[in-house]
Amino acid sequence: MSQHFLQSAAAKTLSLAQVFRMSDADAETMFRKLRWPATDGAPVCSHCGGLNAYECRRLNGSLRFRCRACVKDFTITSGTLFASHKLPLRAYLAAIAVFCNEVKGKSALAMSRDLGVSYKCSFVLLHKLREAMAEEMRGRVVGGEGKVAEVDGGYFGGYVKPANERQNRRDRRFTQNQSGKRRVVVIVRERNGNSAPAVFKNEAQATAFIRARVAKGTVVNADEATSWDGLHGAFEMKRKSRTGVFDGRRLHELGRGIFQPHPPRRNRPSSPYRRRLSASLRPRGDVARG
Ligand SMILES: [Zn+2]
Repeated sequence: MSQHFLQSAAAKTLSLAQVFRMSDADAETMFRKLRWPATDGAPVCSHCGGLNAYECRRLNGSLRFRCRACVKDFTITSGTLFASHKLPLRAYLAAIAVFCNEVKGKSALAMSRDLGVSYKCSFVLLHKLREAMAEEMRGRVVGGEGKVAEVDGGYFGGYVKPANERQNRRDRRFTQNQSGKRRVVVIVRERNGNSAPAVFKNEAQATAFIRARVAKGTVVNADEATSWDGLHGAFEMKRKSRTGVFDGRRLHELGRGIFQPHPPRRNRPSSPYRRRLSASLRPRGDVARG
């Protein structure tokens, strides 16, 4: 049986427990490696890009580097979203751990309680993390020759609460009875690779986005929704039934059975309501069946 991603080791790269066990020095080392992966944590000047810098810690212990080329000071976070930060570095790591591990989304209010910061601070922090994610995904192209990608959408939001009394309720399938706020998050994901998400009003509007973000020669897997039909011209498509085989028939065949009139079934279970109905429809003088 295949394992759910959240149970795998790959999903547990940074946990809150790990962050708690870190000393300030560990947190610094981790941030340095994240900030300057190319030099394995060795400082790179944020002013001139020079590689020759030395540690120049302030008296209060906060870490600064001084560039030998331009003689300017910089920090681990200079030139990043976290520049001029006030919280300890560990708090930022904790925020990242909390934000990433809460798979259904973390509310800013809840995170402010977790980190012991104000709601405003937590709100800004979450937005910075989101911005960092968006920056990383900007213009990203997935797939390539001989690679496989998956495409699907999920609808969120715009819930319309039905009226309390049944006679006041409206059919929420009609556009005029919807809020117009419902959106679909469409994600293209390269198998064992990167993803590119975007938000649309409906799946069909995502066609241009997918064409732009999936490299030529990719085999694209999608479900049977007609919204993906426009992709056939650009990619080799493989369509999969949403639920596979159901009741021995494909789903669309099943749908045909439900939504199209079918010949009356024999030995149909009778109910008092149906008997009354058929009696009222029956022409006068007809003899009731036994
Ligand atoms: Zn410099």
